[in-house]
Amino acid sequence: MSPFEVSYICTPPPPCMPRRELKLRAMATTTSRALALVLLLSAVSSCVDAGKAKRPRLSKDDFLSCLASDIPARLLYAKGSPSYGSVLTSTIRNLRYLSSKTVNPVYIVTPTDVEHIQAAVVCGRRYGVRIRVRSGGHDYEGLSYRSESPEPFAIVDLSKMRNVRVDGKARTAWVESGAQLGELYYGIAKASPTLAFPAGVCPTIGVGGHFSGGGFGMLLRKFGVAADNVIDAKLIDANGKVQDRKSMGEDHFWAIRGGGGESFGIVVAWKVNLLPVPPTVTVFQLPKTLNEGAIDLLTKWQELAPALPDDLMIRVMAQGQKAVFEALYLGTCTSLLPLMSSRFPELGMNRSHCNEMSWVQSIAYIHLGKNATVKDILNRTSSIRAFGKYKSDYVAQPIAKSVWETIYSNWFSKPGAGVMIMDPYGATISAPNESTTPFPHRKGVLYNIQYITFWFGDGAPSVAPIKWIRDFYAFMEPYVTKNPRQAYVNYRDLDLGVNEVVAGGNVSSYKSGKAWGERYFKGNFERLARTKGKVDPTDYFRNEQSIPPLIA
Ligand SMILES: Cc1cc2nc3c(=O)[nH]c(=O)nc-3n(C[C@H](O)[C@H](O)[C@H](O)COP(=O)(O)OP(=O)(O)OC[C@H]3O[C@@H](n4cnc5c(N)ncnc54)[C@H](O)[C@@H]3O)c2cc1C
Repeated sequence: MSPFEVSYICTPPPPCMPRRELKLRAMATTTSRALALVLLLSAVSSCVDAGKAKRPRLSKDDFLSCLASDIPARLLYAKGSPSYGSVLTSTIRNLRYLSSKTVNPVYIVTPTDVEHIQAAVVCGRRYGVRIRVRSGGHDYEGLSYRSESPEPFAIVDLSKMRNVRVDGKARTAWVESGAQLGELYYGIAKASPTLAFPAGVCPTIGVGGHFSGGGFGMLLRKFGVAADNVIDAKLIDANGKVQDRKSMGEDHFWAIRGGGGESFGIVVAWKVNLLPVPPTVTVFQLPKTLNEGAIDLLTKWQELAPALPDDLMIRVMAQGQKAVFEALYLGTCTSLLPLMSSRFPELGMNRSHCNEMSWVQSIAYIHLGKNATVKDILNRTSSIRAFGKYKSDYVAQPIAKSVWETIYSNWFSKPGAGVMIMDPYGATISAPNESTTPFPHRKGVLYNIQYITFWFGDGAPSVAPIKWIRDFYAFMEPYVTKNPRQAYVNYRDLDLGVNEVVAGGNVSSYKSGKAWGERYFKGNFERLARTKGKVDPTDYFRNEQSIPPLIA
């Protein structure tokens, strides 16, 4: 089996078969809903009975009857039911969480309608079952489908709610959270070849989690982050009520545009502004080895890239003995060449490096390679699946050449060494005030670093890569932002801290949240916590890094 074909290794159904299930089986009618209910009850009973001593008590029968009265049985999956495993694993991207040690949901709900989501929240609230929401499943720490603690929970998986409705005339679109970015990009390009939307590079990312944390890609210098371009949303709040921008109020609407997923309700759909791009854009990818001057180029790139015109984005992937300079230019090769030769002649970019195409083709080209077609961005399984650990930093002062020399000579040659992806900021992403949206990484940021280490095969191979990424992160501390050392919430990292639930109150503590929250949100963390205190004071929607409620 190739490392790319690692099969599903989820927790098997518990072996015990409680008496109650047998009784119900006898009582079951021939309707599919009743059958499903029996299946649900059987799995839940066995799971809960097995872990009774440690787990909080779950009103399972009532919760399931409640769900089944509003949601068709074909949309409900319990642990142990035949399709549970394939539904759970369908969008898991980090194989670290496909392990027998992972705490998985006891139920999965795959709504096709707003009312199904409302029912899940109402039933969950009523019977004490927490819900995690999953859109694309790309969370680096798997928080949309697994828990660090052994509490029983359900997931609302939005993969069946993926509608994209584009209004080319108004230059807006409504996109449902379960759509992947590739579906959004494809829908926009179908309506108009000269409209685009600024969001992530990988087409399989889910809209729901991505927009919730900001969301950036190759258009970030021209149009900012995805959340900057959201103009309305439809959300199910902690009471199961449907809200839009007007009814939820400005604090709540502010919080969902970058304050991180899960905390403020389930966003069902987003209305976004579409932005103009020229019919032809130019892409180039230029790898440079150390012998070809990679370190000097990288040293210069740090101040140059954030100061370029907003039509040009040049990012860098550094790894091993080379740096790859990858660019998107909103225009033709002919207009790019004089810009490159005046601003960055050392890179040696010339006409032979130019690849002209439409903006939507550039999505396929950059992520999937030069042979990819536009239709490939609709593929929901195209991403490589590996075991991975990720971290992030922001840089405000250029890093000295001598430090880059140490990074290449020392860190990139250690066992488990991974890659640094660096995205330059400046221009539009840096223009808003830090408090305009919860995403605070604006003025003064030169670039974002994403550290990635990955491996194939579970167990021992993880030791070296995880050690490498943690040690390297410690080494980088003097060279990146301080007080706080900033991090990007969409590059989720539980090493930064996890919530502690306050004894007695049963809510996440503000103090424990501050440790990681100010790194992701800087001064916006307090406003996020106050907003959480207003819209979900009992902390129903929570995970290891959800915003804790701060009640004034
Ligand atoms: C291969 C890969 C490439 C990536 N590339 C980029 C990139 O180019 N740019 C970038 O900015 N980021 C990138 N990321 C990070 C990505 O933006 C985040 O992981 C993002 O949160 C994923 O959203 P999702 O819906 O796929 O994830 P999920 O795992 O479904 O959700 C992530 C979080 O959001 C919550 N959430 C999900 N849906 C909703 C909803 N509808 N309402 C409320 N909360 C919700 C979840 O509960 C979870 O806490 C990448 C990640 C991967 C794995």
